[in-house]
Amino acid sequence: MIATTRLLGPSDRFGRPLRNLRISVTDRCNLRCRYCMPEAEYQWLPRSSILSFEEIDRLAGIFSGLGVTKVRLTGGEPLLRHDLPTLVRLLSARDALSDLALTTNGVLLARQAEALRVAGLTRVTISLDTLRPERMREFARSSRHADVIAGIDAARAAGFPSVKLNTVVIRGFNDDEILELLDFAFGRDLEPRFIEYMDVGGATGWSMAQVVSQREIVETVARRYGAVKPVQQSQWAPAERFALPDGRTFGVIASTTAPFCRTCDRGRITADGTFLLCLYGEQGLDLRELVRGGATDAEIAERIAAVWQARDDRGAEARLGLAERGVLHRIESLRADPRREMHTRGG
Ligand code: SF4
Repeated sequence: MIATTRLLGPSDRFGRPLRNLRISVTDRCNLRCRYCMPEAEYQWLPRSSILSFEEIDRLAGIFSGLGVTKVRLTGGEPLLRHDLPTLVRLLSARDALSDLALTTNGVLLARQAEALRVAGLTRVTISLDTLRPERMREFARSSRHADVIAGIDAARAAGFPSVKLNTVVIRGFNDDEILELLDFAFGRDLEPRFIEYMDVGGATGWSMAQVVSQREIVETVARRYGAVKPVQQSQWAPAERFALPDGRTFGVIASTTAPFCRTCDRGRITADGTFLLCLYGEQGLDLRELVRGGATDAEIAERIAAVWQARDDRGAEARLGLAERGVLHRIESLRADPRREMHTRGG
């Protein structure tokens, strides 16, 4: 029996604890962003394989017993999952989970923000890559820009203590909007975060030339606002935060040029119940088989702890070390195993 305690939990080979869990509730999405789902057609996970809310809640309980305190619901687009507030209500009843967050593209948020807040969701992160509707039409094949803005405003109105705005910055697409997006976020009391374009599964058009680095992003902001200083924060946070001279802050997630794998305490569960140890990981533990096959909570916890203790994944750092860096997966390889897609593994 592997020794685990509620407070300690398992650590991996680099001493990283399991504290954060990203749970994908669907592989479907209503946008087709070029950095994630650029293809015309996708192979979806069979509906019968998607975990039910009760199965997700049971797994969340097992993970919290292993030390997980933070859960983030992702997709695909999680708000496409029918009645998501019911899942939020189940999870928020678990005292051991101190943080229950959602990452969404915002298209369907206006209608659901209040219900999600009432159900116990604590934080929302909304993706907004451009302030220009015509760019979104071209880049994400969607004319729902106004709905995203309405979703952002609904999240503020619902009273979430933290609403973050995530922008993937891509050279030649939206790198000329960094300052506008920053002002937009500050004007609505949101925390802006810029994310480097990553060469993950799904990003079949990725190239290093399109990556706008953290250094460039910070320099762009500093040219407008003056010297920008790093903010001290938890070593486990993925975003580096920076403060403007007036104290306002923004974050940069430098997964491509300055990865933070050595402090990565995140596991992820795909919508069909595969436990993955890394965004770039190939192998996973089939939790659905265990849950539906009659395994007890203790047996499942033991299997999870065992794979976490064997974990030595440092996917983004390994990518950084490559002499020639191209796309991670070509379309044929993604079609051979849809779990390689970022929209399936809850990027
Ligand atoms: S690449 Fe893998 S190990 Fe590195 S930060 Fe991302 S999920 Fe964690």
